[in-house]
Amino acid sequence: MLGDTIAAVSTPRGKGGVALLRVSGDRAIEISEKVFCAKNKKSLADLPARQAIYGSILAPDESGAFVPVDDGIAVVFRAPASFTGEDTVELTCHGGILLTEKILAALFAAGAKPAMAGEFTRRAFLNGKLGLSAAEALGLMLDAKTDTQLTLAHTGMSGKLEAQMENIYASLRRLLASVYAKIDYPDEDLADLSESELLAEIEATRASLESLLSTYTTGRSIAEGIATVICGRPNAGKSSLYNRLVGRDAAIVTEVEGTTRDVLSETVPFGKVTLRLFDTAGLHESDDPVERIGIDRAKKTLDEAELVFALFDGTKQPDEDDFKLTESLSGRKEATIALVTKCDLWSGEDETLAFCKKHFEKVLSISTESGEGLAELEELVETLFVDGSIDLRKDPILTSARQYAAVLGAKEAAARAKDALLSGISVELVCSDLEKAMESLSELDGRSVSEDVVSEIFSHFCVGK
Ligand code: GDP
Repeated sequence: MLGDTIAAVSTPRGKGGVALLRVSGDRAIEISEKVFCAKNKKSLADLPARQAIYGSILAPDESGAFVPVDDGIAVVFRAPASFTGEDTVELTCHGGILLTEKILAALFAAGAKPAMAGEFTRRAFLNGKLGLSAAEALGLMLDAKTDTQLTLAHTGMSGKLEAQMENIYASLRRLLASVYAKIDYPDEDLADLSESELLAEIEATRASLESLLSTYTTGRSIAEGIATVICGRPNAGKSSLYNRLVGRDAAIVTEVEGTTRDVLSETVPFGKVTLRLFDTAGLHESDDPVERIGIDRAKKTLDEAELVFALFDGTKQPDEDDFKLTESLSGRKEATIALVTKCDLWSGEDETLAFCKKHFEKVLSISTESGEGLAELEELVETLFVDGSIDLRKDPILTSARQYAAVLGAKEAAARAKDALLSGISVELVCSDLEKAMESLSELDGRSVSEDVVSEIFSHFCVGK
């Protein structure tokens, strides 16, 4: 509950140099006072904000009396100038597992309640300290596995997206005020925008929303990852490529056909982007019922892929399985890259390479043995999914489906408002569409968003964040 004072260990559980406990809420200082005694005997209540003080950390003994268990540092943050926007005390102790648990238990005994996962950040959001998109960026920062994810997270936390939204919001407000004036006083010239200015501003708003939407492919490819399926006939080298990209022997590699039966999946960094990689069973006709299930699953995974690595064995001539795969991929709109494998074993104008060049736009020769072609593959995937004109450090970028849906809703409403104005049907319709655009945008930063959405976002955080 928002009114409770909560406490948690904010550093990971384990042995370390130091551990940090956080207490937040109306009673944070009073509760921490029972657990911390400054060496100079000063009370935490009298301590200036954001000043570190050295002292004893106390915890209850068998009789329940609070006795010193460690020496450490306390820092007091006073509302609203704290991460959560509430009174907060941070206690730093030595990083022992039992010691940290004891101090946390002492805080509970003194009146604090255990914090839920992400509750500190959730309070920061509810107290207006950070928008929902910035909270999502913070989540990305904690989970980041690549440098680009870190950059994107840092940009997101700096509020670039919120600032851009504020501008669009302001222009929608101005447009609405003008349209309302036209509705309420049709005969007087009260609106501060003429009809053509109105049209131009609605179009400018629609265009900024559209350009924001175009950042999503880049943002999602970096943050969430591209659903990428490795497919091809048995023994083409699928599991070898999967293992090479995953960086360990996750899939079994043998010369025996039909080894990979189920779909294997892992999320891996790949240059600037992240791949949600799927290794699938070899696509061919099989009488084995178990392998057939694997092949059906492979086909289903393929249908849902955003990027396909279609593998062709460069040491063999294209066969019926290759023809079928080529045909099944021919109508795909999503990115497909044909990879002619095992190029350490062949050279020059290979027949399979020629076949692939004839049927696919993007073709690379690779070897998982020598690593040849893999850097080119990384570069090609980046050019397909990362818009080079976007400055990841400065530009507002959409990174989650939730953000995309909010901006899309706003763009569609702005487009309808423009059509309504152009067709001259009704000014009321323009108004209602502009209001819908504002409504949709207010979901982006969390101004108006359902409790379920908020819970879903914060449930991914750890306890203590
Ligand atoms: P899958 O059935 O498509 O998953 O193919 P595997 O990855 O299991 O590979 C089949 C065989 O080809 C194994 O013996 C691998 O060691 C071999 N192989 C795969 N990729 C390469 C490669 O790039 N170079 C060489 N020389 N052998 C490879």
